Amino acid sequence: MNYFKKFLILLFIIFIALVVKYYGDYSFSSDVEVNGKFIASFIDVGQGDSIFLEFPNGKNMLIDAGENYESETVQSFINSKGYFSLDYVVGTHPHTDHIGGLESIIRRYEIGEIYLPKVVHTSKTYENLLTTINELGYKVNSAISGMEIINEKGLEVKILSPKNSNYSELNNYSVVIKIVFGNTSFLFMGDAETVVEDEILDEVNADVVKVGHHGSDTSSSEEFVKSVNAKYAVIMSGFDNQYDLPDKAIVDRWKSNGAEVYNTSENGNVIITSDGRNITVEVEHESYN
Ligand SMILES: [Zn+2]
Repeated sequence: MNYFKKFLILLFIIFIALVVKYYGDYSFSSDVEVNGKFIASFIDVGQGDSIFLEFPNGKNMLIDAGENYESETVQSFINSKGYFSLDYVVGTHPHTDHIGGLESIIRRYEIGEIYLPKVVHTSKTYENLLTTINELGYKVNSAISGMEIINEKGLEVKILSPKNSNYSELNNYSVVIKIVFGNTSFLFMGDAETVVEDEILDEVNADVVKVGHHGSDTSSSEEFVKSVNAKYAVIMSGFDNQYDLPDKAIVDRWKSNGAEVYNTSENGNVIITSDGRNITVEVEHESYN
């Protein structure tokens, strides 16, 4: 081999070393330095949703409050954590298994901002909620895709859906929230179905997902589950519920796409904590299998 060839090989090795170093540095610098913890508590309210979020900046958020008769469960949970006020309250959509418990929550705590989807629904429960909000002098923020509830260094709380105002199914008005804390991300789907999943497919990638519509097969399409690519999937459903949820095929779909699946009907309260880098899961009861 002549010297010129050797020189070229050496040059090539140096080039590869530089590329490796550059990309190594690059991926390192994309890490976001964050302090504190983000805690998502999936409260067991039987057949319904209620999720309490504690942000590293000291603020909190309640997404839904289960049926009316489960409001006490939610309040006990919030009280046990020592909170007397709620910075953000989100009612994902007007079905009673989500907003039923909210009226007494709004009466009991000092509330910051309230987010609801813009939808006309004349159930008594929803009407009562709106009347109470009005009576106490709060105003409603109409949740719409693109709204940023929090946007600070290392922490982003963003509304992905609703994008439209003419869905035929009330579930599809669900306020869908994505949270990015450091290098970890969380997705809360409410009861959104596949129509909505298709609309937001390129934004749904997340480490943790609150599975849409209690694990029903109206939601969690194959494409969506793949796009989320979750490490942890939480299903909120009631023990022995009348709808026979979650659908077994949907549970298996999340599992076969690599997610550890938790279910409030089996695990009770599910508490997921992120320090911006690592995620830990605590459950009230271990799974049966
Ligand atoms: Zn529901």
